[in-house]
Amino acid sequence: MTTTAIPEIDDSRAAAAGLEPRTQLFIDGSFRDALGGARYTTENPATGRPLAEIALGGPADVDAAVAAARRAADDGRWSRVSPGDRKRILVRWADLIEAKGAELGLLETLDAGKPIADTVGLDVPETATCIRWHAEAADKLYGQVAPSPEGTVATITREPCGVVGAVIPWNYPAQMAAWKLGPALATGNTVVIKPASTTSLSLLRMAELASEAGLPDGVLNVVTGPGDAVGEAIGRHPDVDCVAFTGSTEVGRRFLTYAAETNLKRVLLELGGKSPQLVFPDATDLASIASNVASAVFWNMGENCSAGSRLIVHRSIKDRLLEAVSAELASWPVGDPLDPATRIGALINRGHMERVLGYIDAGRREGARVVTGGERILEETGGYFVPPTVFDGVRNDMTIAREEIFGPVLSVIEFDTEAEAVALANDTPYGLAASLYTDDLNVAHRVARDLKAGVVGVNAYSEGDMTTPFGGYKLSGFGGHDKSVHAHDQYTETKTIWITLKPAP
Ligand code: NAP
Ligand code: MG
Repeated sequence: MTTTAIPEIDDSRAAAAGLEPRTQLFIDGSFRDALGGARYTTENPATGRPLAEIALGGPADVDAAVAAARRAADDGRWSRVSPGDRKRILVRWADLIEAKGAELGLLETLDAGKPIADTVGLDVPETATCIRWHAEAADKLYGQVAPSPEGTVATITREPCGVVGAVIPWNYPAQMAAWKLGPALATGNTVVIKPASTTSLSLLRMAELASEAGLPDGVLNVVTGPGDAVGEAIGRHPDVDCVAFTGSTEVGRRFLTYAAETNLKRVLLELGGKSPQLVFPDATDLASIASNVASAVFWNMGENCSAGSRLIVHRSIKDRLLEAVSAELASWPVGDPLDPATRIGALINRGHMERVLGYIDAGRREGARVVTGGERILEETGGYFVPPTVFDGVRNDMTIAREEIFGPVLSVIEFDTEAEAVALANDTPYGLAASLYTDDLNVAHRVARDLKAGVVGVNAYSEGDMTTPFGGYKLSGFGGHDKSVHAHDQYTETKTIWITLKPAP
C-alpha cells in the first residue's frame, strides 16, 4: 500500500501527530491510484493552504468499484455471512474507529475546518456509535409470517438490495458516511461510496480500518473525485441497485433523474432545510433556551442540514431572548479549529464563505438589522471565518429566511399568536427539523403535531439519537430515513415466499 504524506502540513501539532493520510481510491480491499493517474489538491479551510493530493476518480474508476462490489454481492461473501458474524466484524470496525479517534478527529478537522473539540468529542464517537448500533441490530431483527390460509405458509423477509451507492457531503464527513454504511453493511449490502471531494481523508482511513476489522474485500469501496464525474457515474450506474445521497436539494433532484433515465434504482435523499425554532411567551429560563438556540444554528458553523436558522419568537419576549443569545455567544469562540477551546471553526472553502457573505449582504439590503457578526474575520490567517451572525427584524419572505444559507446566520422573526407561529414555521419549501420551547403541555402537543417536519424537538434542539429516524418532509428528503431500524428497511427489499403444502398422504 502506498500513502502520501500531507505535503505542506501547516500546523506543528498535526505534523507532530505524524499523520500519513490515505489519498488513493479504495477498491476491492486495496488502495490504488485513479485509472487516469490524476490527482487534485485539497486545502485546509482554516489556512487556505494545500493539505493533500487526492486521487481524482472518474467514471472508469466507478465502473471498477461497482464491478468489485457486484462480485462481492453476488458471491455472498458478505450477504451470506451469518448475521452474528456480520455483527462481530462491524462492531470490531466501530471499536477500531473509536480507538483511532484522535487521528480521525485530526484528519476531519484539517479537512473540514471543524473544531477539534467537536471532531474528537462528537463526530468520531458518534460515527463509531452509529456503526455499532446498526451492527448490533443485525442479528435481532425478524421477518414475518403472514396470516395465510390453511395449507399454505407465507413468509415476508428482507433481503439486501445488493450494491448500494452513496454520495455524501462535507459537513460531517465521517458521520454521514456512517449513517449510510452502518445500515447498508449491517443488512448485507456491498457499497460504493463517494465522499465530498473537499473531505475524503477520514473515510479513506475508515475504509482501511474496516478491512483490518475483517470486512471482506470488495464489500466497501471508496471512489474519491468530483460530483459531476464520480457522483453522476454512481447515480447512473446500471449495476447499482440503490443510491443514498445527502447534500443539496438541487443535486438530490439529479439523482432522481439519473435513476429515471437508467435502471430505476431506489433513491434515498436527505437534503437541505430552513428549520424553525419557536419560542412561546410562557417559556421560562431564557438563558437555557438561548444556549439551545445558539447550538441549533451555530453548531458546526451552521453547516448543518438541520440548522435551526429561523428563530420565531413571541414579540413579548423577543428582546430579552436576543439579549440572552448575545450573552450566550460569549462562550462560542471563533478561530483555529485545532484549538480545543474553539467552538466555531472555518467554513469549508472560499466559494462557500462568499456565498454565506452574499446572503448576509442580501439580509442587509432587504432591510434586516445585524445584531452581531456580519463580516468575515481572521482574514490574516488565510482561513474562511465568519462569526455567529444574528439578524433582527427579519420577515419570512426575505431571502435570508427562505434559502438555506448553510452558515452561521440566524434570522429572528416575531409572532403574536400560536396560529401565526405555526404558519410562519411551515411557510418554507423545506421540512427537515423544528424545535419549540414552551412550558405548556397543550401548546407543546398541538404545535409539535402541526409542524411539517420530520424531527420536532420540544424544549430541545435534539435530532434524537440512533434509535430515532432522521429525514425530512417536502424538499428536505425523499424515499427513506437515516438512523434507527427504519434505515435497515431502506437498504433491503421485501420478499414474499408463498408455499402451498401438500395434503397429508
Ligand atoms: P452538493 O453539491 O449537493 O454536494 C453533495 C455531494 O454531491 C458531494 O459529494 C458532491 O460532490 C456531490 N455532487 C455534486 N454535484 C453532483 C452531481 N451533479 N451528480 C452527483 N453528485 C454530485 O453540496 P455542496 O455543493 O457541497 O453544497 C451546496 C449547498 O448544499 C450547501 O451550501 C448547502 O446548502 C447544501 N448542503 C446540504 C447538506 C445536507 O446535509 N443536507 C450537505 C452539504 C451541502 P463534490 O462536492 O465532490 O463535487
Ligand atoms: Mg455542489
